[in-house]
Amino acid sequence: MDCPTCEAMVEPYLDGELPAGESVRFEAALEACPDCRGKLDRLRGLRSLIRELPAERAPDLMRARLERELRAAIPAAAPLVESAPSPTPGSAATPSPRLWSRRSAMAASLLVALGAGWVGGRYTGQDGSRETDELLAGYLRVGLGDRPVDVASSDQHTVKPWFAGRIDYAPPVYDLTSAGFPLLGGRLDVLEGRRIAVLVYRRNQHRLALSLWPATASGDTAPVVSEQDGFAIARWRHAGFELRAIGDIAPKDMSVFAASIDKAMEAGK
Ligand SMILES: [Zn+2]
Repeated sequence: MDCPTCEAMVEPYLDGELPAGESVRFEAALEACPDCRGKLDRLRGLRSLIRELPAERAPDLMRARLERELRAAIPAAAPLVESAPSPTPGSAATPSPRLWSRRSAMAASLLVALGAGWVGGRYTGQDGSRETDELLAGYLRVGLGDRPVDVASSDQHTVKPWFAGRIDYAPPVYDLTSAGFPLLGGRLDVLEGRRIAVLVYRRNQHRLALSLWPATASGDTAPVVSEQDGFAIARWRHAGFELRAIGDIAPKDMSVFAASIDKAMEAGK
């Protein structure tokens, strides 16, 4: 096995996505490849760090460790500031972005966010920095964590009942495969001290997290999409729920997502 091959297998291996025979081949190849062994160790370390990430603002020490780990996880050749390029057919054939995986793209975005003042100050005064911090921290767990969802299913009739007894409201759950956003499942998170439902969707190779909870204010608001260092965040209120969606996708895709949720909520009433 040559190094580009074993390198390409590091993340699927960590995710448990390699068939058994491939795992054995990969483990054998690792013996002979210190670079890939190092990469595997770094990614493991990064993920355990993310598991420990507090729901609230990360303390400085945690932030410093996270930044170090993120830097190590990013291939040196990868551009740091560009947001994740969307994969195009044939792009796998070009040699330079072979190191450029979804996770390293996300790590780069996060690093930029950290440098720009995530848990710092730049977001202060925009639209509630603590909420943004917590959304980003939650998204880290979805995007980089070992377990993006607590209940994995594209079936709304599986995901919706899973929340019963775990939170004090029933979130509307819709699969949006037909709109290009397949439902991956659901998870619990904490936002401003409250336990909330998070639905995880996929857009091509990217993940989106939709947090929703019962609104205290009345009336619908149109989704407002902002872009922050490679992440698109949508905020809106619809059919009695406050909705926040975050993902490393283009703002226009986020607008489509929000509109699709609204449409599904209307149809599901
Ligand atoms: Zn290798």
